[in-house]
Amino acid sequence: MELTRLSLDGMQQLTTSLGHPAYRARQLYRWVYHSRVASIDEMSNMPASLRDGLAAGHTLARLTLRERQRSTDQTIKSLYQLASGRLVEAVLIPDFASEDDRYGAGPATRLTVCVSSQVGCAMACSFCATGRMGFHENLSAGEILEQVVLLNELGQEEFGRPVTNVVFMGMGEPLLNYDQVVRSVDLMRDPDGLGLSGKRITISTVGLARRIRKLADDGIEANLAISLHAPEDAKRSSIMPVNRHEKTDLSALKDAVQYYCRQTSRKVTYEYCMFQGFNDDREDARNLVNVCRWAPSKVNLIMYNPVPGLGFNRTSEATLDAFIREVVAGGVRITVRRSRGQDIAAACGQLAADNG
Ligand code: SF4
Repeated sequence: MELTRLSLDGMQQLTTSLGHPAYRARQLYRWVYHSRVASIDEMSNMPASLRDGLAAGHTLARLTLRERQRSTDQTIKSLYQLASGRLVEAVLIPDFASEDDRYGAGPATRLTVCVSSQVGCAMACSFCATGRMGFHENLSAGEILEQVVLLNELGQEEFGRPVTNVVFMGMGEPLLNYDQVVRSVDLMRDPDGLGLSGKRITISTVGLARRIRKLADDGIEANLAISLHAPEDAKRSSIMPVNRHEKTDLSALKDAVQYYCRQTSRKVTYEYCMFQGFNDDREDARNLVNVCRWAPSKVNLIMYNPVPGLGFNRTSEATLDAFIREVVAGGVRITVRRSRGQDIAAACGQLAADNG
């Protein structure tokens, strides 16, 4: 068992089962998640009998940096090796007050980490490089947290500030690794650790309706984003296989989103990647407005970064402008997300570590 999969409760059960008092669990938690030691031997304030007991059946999964690339826009992509030997990517995205600041004159105003929650992904969205890999492995909560911790350190060195935002938009479908993702959100919010507000953490899903309801029922302190990409069933099913099932089609998604917004009093964000000639005409815009009327929401329009061989292209600026006008006329709040880190394949849909 990996210690980086355990919550504090799980650690309490573990230390108790090894014949040690419950308060040892808090110490263990600190060693694993705050000090982030590389081995059980380093847990110096724990009795040798407890360390031996832990070492007998447990490991500490840590990330090893394999490669780092920096984009001309200052986005940094890191490739990490997991304890299993497999590889995941995480991206550090700085925003600046001005172009002068971007090229060294000033600190970042905002620093976002895009984390991976799985190696590969089973969802097989046809525009996504990760989807081509298939599913390989779920990350532990500690492995997800560590991406943020390591990039927080890098952010302070390179851009003069700690991480401000975390988005689960790297490799994988976070809600298919529900327990570990939710645990990692709790760890990021831990005031003795990174102390991030849940308002600064966004879980992004293809729209797994039952798990969206569960997020609401469990009171998870994070924002919810939904990868919509097409606002009607036939089109969405053609690029996102998840939409072909009645439990996860747009009708099921509508019910889940309405439930989520009612229960949490939060808005949802729809991610909408613009594909030339596929989802960017007036009718698409009107259908998107209809989706946005389901519940309080906003839209992030993403300019697609073509992945060679996948057959999708980026919408032109003129088509984008017309689309925005139509959606805004429908009363929808909309933000355009320009591509970041394209030249190092770090942008949305481009992450695909070579896992052989
Ligand atoms: S877009 Fe997200 S859910 Fe779809 S295949 Fe890629 S990583 Fe998986």
